[in-house]
Parts: sequence; structure tokens; C-alpha cells
Amino acid sequence: MWRAVWSSSCNLAGRLPQPAAQRLLTINSNQLASNHFDYQSEHAPRIYRGQHSSAHSNNHSNHSKHTHAKGNLASTPVQPLVQAHSKSALDRVIHDAAQHPDAFWLRAANHSGLHWSKPPTIAKVLNPNGTAAWFPDGELNTCYNAIDVHVEQHRGAQVALIHDSPVTKSVTNVSYTELQERVATFAGVLARHGVGMGDRVLIYMPMVPEAAISMLACARLGAIHSVVFGGFASHELATRISDCQPSVIITGSCGIEGAKIIPYKPLLDRAIDLATHKPNSVIVFQRPMSRASLVSGKTPKRLKCRDYDWTAEVEASQPHACVPVPSQHPLYILYTSGTTGAPKGIVRESGPHAVAIKWSMTNIYGLRPGETMFAGSDIGWVVGSSYVCYGPLLNGNTTVLFEGKPVGTPDPSTYWRIVDQHNVNVMFTSPTALRAIKREQSDKLVGGYDTSRLRSLFVAGEHCDTDTLKWIQQMLQKPVIDHWWQTETGWPMASLCPGIQHMPVRAGSAGKPVPGYTIHILDQKTGQVLPEPNTLGAIAVKLPMPPGVVTTLWNNQKRFDSTYLSSYPGYYDTGDAGYFDEDGYLYVMARTDDVINVAGHRLSTSALEDVICSHPAVAECAVVGVKDRLKGQLPIGLVILKQSSASASQSLSHDLQRMVADQVGAFACYKNTIVVEKLPKTRSGKILRKTIRQMANHEKVDIPATIEDAAVLPVIQQILHDASDVKPPSSHH
Ligand code: AMP
Repeated sequence: MWRAVWSSSCNLAGRLPQPAAQRLLTINSNQLASNHFDYQSEHAPRIYRGQHSSAHSNNHSNHSKHTHAKGNLASTPVQPLVQAHSKSALDRVIHDAAQHPDAFWLRAANHSGLHWSKPPTIAKVLNPNGTAAWFPDGELNTCYNAIDVHVEQHRGAQVALIHDSPVTKSVTNVSYTELQERVATFAGVLARHGVGMGDRVLIYMPMVPEAAISMLACARLGAIHSVVFGGFASHELATRISDCQPSVIITGSCGIEGAKIIPYKPLLDRAIDLATHKPNSVIVFQRPMSRASLVSGKTPKRLKCRDYDWTAEVEASQPHACVPVPSQHPLYILYTSGTTGAPKGIVRESGPHAVAIKWSMTNIYGLRPGETMFAGSDIGWVVGSSYVCYGPLLNGNTTVLFEGKPVGTPDPSTYWRIVDQHNVNVMFTSPTALRAIKREQSDKLVGGYDTSRLRSLFVAGEHCDTDTLKWIQQMLQKPVIDHWWQTETGWPMASLCPGIQHMPVRAGSAGKPVPGYTIHILDQKTGQVLPEPNTLGAIAVKLPMPPGVVTTLWNNQKRFDSTYLSSYPGYYDTGDAGYFDEDGYLYVMARTDDVINVAGHRLSTSALEDVICSHPAVAECAVVGVKDRLKGQLPIGLVILKQSSASASQSLSHDLQRMVADQVGAFACYKNTIVVEKLPKTRSGKILRKTIRQMANHEKVDIPATIEDAAVLPVIQQILHDASDVKPPSSHH
């Protein structure tokens, strides 16, 4: 039963105890020293010396004309982002971005190697709702900046994209020159199918180079792509087709999930049948392991739509030039699904996106052109768009497109094999992937692979528990940098910025606000800023936000305003809860809806999960609040045990109770631990705490369409039912 006694230590209303997680992690200082490169000496010259080549290709004549009309930028006097000396480099950049945001971002737009057919002269104009339209008089083409420019600057032979596919036992390298040819020709295919500027193209593809080629081909034409995660079933796909109304859909004949081959075409056919909008054409990339049968004629439900074979279409097409677009022209729509209602179509504007993503590659991830980035994400998620596809290519890097899983393809050393084999310098993954690896490979390093070229590992997607962070840091002996962002923002809001300056990692924290973001912790009820450090509140970002973040939802400005701007006037509501410590490190601890209120004490899920995860037998856990007549809510913990600890000791529950009381406080009233085999998660690896909470409280359960394995739910429901010998008094059906 969800019951616990009152605790005399319940006197810290609204304040957090010094979190256990709030400890400096020691990183080998030699490591940091050897990885360090100084912002002034290494970055400033690269950013500010005129990198605007005077040679533009014929197929990009508009770029040449406009760029030249502004004169030779190489001779333009260039101001460094930061004035030398005194404060730390990062402090100076933060200060500069906060005090002079227009000058800061205009410099980033015009002097970081991006090529505009019409360089912006205006930094931003404010929209009536407080958001900003960045670089409103600029024009550029994102594909040109991601590919052609590198070919023109004699980097054509460099590998642009590595397709590493343990599921097909293949590795394929695509150079910038080859990528240019393939993207330009596929843009020609799309143009033949009538796709032009502003038309939508939906991409429902597995992790193959053709997925990135499709995205870039759309960008080349000024068409707006919407990538839908390849694992989505027909209904979800149909919702997205109906909303963005694509004229063309691009798909692969199948995806491969571990050992399973999943034919995509039947899912897509059904989705088109269900959707209120029908595309004109479906272009199918055939994979040999499962070819799709193509519909060449009309069907009653698809009067004008027919299927085309990718290869045949490419053979019949000519390369297409880059089409410059205005800065605010959407590059893509990416749907993010809540648990209820239609998915939200996040619109990414071309100019601000290019500026922000390129800035982040240099300053956050610290990557130099020619280096390699590996972001272990599907291109259907925002990390895939930002840091598998556009970021590395805009920055002249090599990107790894990985078709596999962190474990099971074939084993938990896959990631480290990739790091070794492809000389990865910066890697990005999720805590959930690391926990999966840790679960199978708890105390030895990574299969003997050479990870020495890796400078840092970035993690995001959810709070990274201290235990996992320490484990992986110890394995790799590299900085492991937890950073925080959302589909909506498209790039990090909080992080450490080793590209500017190395800072110590603080376990449990997602770093400091990234330059350009003014982040405040607000009282959820009053909306007032909570100035005291270590005070849990709603995390909100002051408007206007920096370039690149969402400013509208596709065809639904009203929903954008009400979802993100109405909670706290003048702020973007992130929906997350957290706090700053005394040194300005941000801790992102829960979704605001998941915060647990025990007799007036607001507890974050992550604070409790961090403690529980540090138990040697625990592999993963989720804490949710269940209703309690006396205290309002009480936390319960669902834990997955490590394989080696499968027969949990009798004392686990007591151990965890004691650990939480010691490290968080007895006022947390943590008593109930329930061992489970699996936790319900989204396909992108996020634990569905709200769904668990609703089940535990006997409420109506919202099952998100993005759930990875719905079969987990009845099992959890039964376990919760068995565990609650007395139903919560205030629960209702
Ligand atoms: P999505 O848009 O699906 O990527 O989800 C964004 C949400 O994931 C954020 O609003 C947070 O709730 C969570 N999230 C992402 N990164 C972190 C992080 N480093 N720490 C804590 N939560 C995170």
C-alpha cells in the first residue's frame, strides 16, 4: 500500500537538499589538457578569417551573385566574439551573447563560413508573440552549405558520410563529391515529380545513406522535408501525412531492427489509405533483403498516386542546382508527439537553423572541419536531423550513420568499435543507450577497442544518472557531457562548451546555459523567478530565444502560442523542472508534470532515481508519484535489476529506502520498490513516467503512439495492482 508515516524532517518546503549528485567528477587532467584548444587561438581565426570562397559553382549562381554584391568578405575587418583576457572565455561569450545578441548572431551568421546568396544585414525582428525572426533579409541554401561548398573548397575527396550497418554487415563511405552528385541528381528526381520550393516531402526511411540524401535533396530545392521515424506504424504515419500534406513520399522497402526485417511499404500503403491527404508519388528505395511490390496503377483510394523505383528514377534524372531560400523559409517539419492530441509539427527555419547548428558544432562540440562525429540516433529524431545530418555536414565533418542498436548488433561493444574504426572525435548518445550497454557489460571496457581519438562523449534525451555517468567516464577516461535540449529547440540550451573552454563536468548537471539562452527557474504557481540556488522550479527561457529554435507549429500558430508561450508571459515554457546550483550549473530533474509533491515538498523524479540507480543491483529505474490521502503523493520506484543481480536480495527495498532517506531526506517518504523486467519507454528511449503514474493511480491511461513495446503495459499494470494491497484512497477510475 502507498503509505508512509510523517517525517519530522519535512521542513524544507520547496528547497532541495544538497543533491548527492552535485559532486565534481574528476577527469584525468592530462586528458583535458591534451584535448584543450584555446578559443582565441584555435577558433577565432577559423571563424573570422574570410572563408567566403570567391569561386561558386555554376549551379549555384545566385549565391555567387549575391555574395559578391556584398564585396569580398575576406577583407572585412572581423571582430572576435570575445575580447581577450580577464574573464574566462566562456563567460565572455555568454556575456557577449546576452548583452549584444544582435551583433553576436549576425557575426555568427556572416563570419563562420556560412555562405548566403544574400548575406543578412538585420539580426532579427520581433514577432508579436515575443519570438524572433532571425536574419530576416538573408537568403541561403542549406544543402549548398552542407555539401557544395566543401567540394568547391577542395574537400570533395573527404568522406562526408559513413554508413555503418552491422545489421547488414556493411560499411559504406560516401565522399563529399559523391554526396553532391547523388543529392543533386535526386533533387532532379524530385523536381521531375513536380516538387518545388515550399512543397512538402515526407521521408519514411531506415538508416541508410538514401535517407540523408533525400533530406538534402529537399533542402537543395527549397522543399520542406518531414522525416518520420521508420518504426512508426500506419496510424501515426497517416496523422503526419494528413497534417503536412506531402506531394511526394520517399520510403525504403524495409527497415532492419536487430535481426528482424520490417517491410515498410505495407505500413506506408495503409497509412496513405488512412490519411486524409494523398501524395502524388511514392518513391521506393528497394533493399535486397526485402523488396517491395510497387503499385503502378491507380487504386480506388489512391486515384492519382503511384509508386516509383528510386534507382530507375535516378537513372532518368539530371542534377539540379541549389535554390536559395529566404531565411525564414522552413527547412523541415519534425513531429514531436505528446501523449494526447495530434503530434506537433515543429517548423525549423532555414537561415537561423544553419547559423545555430554550425555555431554549436564549433563551440559546443568543438569539432574542426575534417574531424568525425558519431551521433547514435535515428534520423527520425531531432538529434538525427541536427547532428547526424546537418551539423556535421555544415561543419565539413565526417558523419557516421549507424544502422544498429547499442546492444545486440552484435554486442555491447558496437559503439566502441565504431569509435575505433572510424576515428570518431566526438560522440553523442543517450543515457538509456549507455545503461543498456552497462547492463550487459558492467565492469570491463568496451572490447579492447582504441577510443583514444575520442575527445568527448555528449549525452542527452533524459537526465543522466550519476552512476551511469561515472561508469562511462571511468571506462572512457574522457569528459562525458550531459547536455539538455528538445526537438523544439533543435540544438542545446544547456551544455558545457569544450569548443570554447573546458569546464569541469558536474555529475547530475546538464551544464550551463548555452550562450544565447537566458534560462530562469520560475515558481510554477506564481511565475516569479526563484533566485535562490538549489530551488526546484519550472525551467523557462526568456524570449526572444536565439536562432534555430521553433517559432511556430506547422499550420498552427495558435497551438504554438498556447503550448509554449502562455504559461509564463515573456518566456518559452520548456515543460521541464530543475534548478541551478550556486555556480550556475543547471540540473534538469523532471518534466514539470512528473514532479512529486510529498506533503508540500516538491521532489524531482531524477533526484530519487539517481539514488536508486546507484545501488549496485539496479540497472535502471523510474520513480513516479502515487496519490496518498495524507501526504498528497508518495514516490514509488520501479526498478530493473542488473543481469548479474537477477535474484534480488531480500533487503533491496530496505536498502533503497535507507539510501533515499540518507541522501535525499526522510521527508521523501520513499518506501515502495517494485522489481520489473522492463519499463515502458518511447521508441527514442524515454521512460513513460506519466503512463506509469496513471496506471498506479488507477486513472485513465494515455498510451503514447510512440511507445516502444505496448506489451509492457499490462505486465506493469498487474505488478502495480499486486503491489498496492490497498488502493490509494483518493484514486478514481
Ligand atoms: P525530445 O524533444 O523528445 O528530445 O525531448 C526533450 C525532453 O527530453 C526535454 O524537455 C527533457 O525533458 C528531456 N531531456 C533532454 N535532454 C535532457 C537532459 N540532458 N537532462 C534531462 N532531461 C533531458
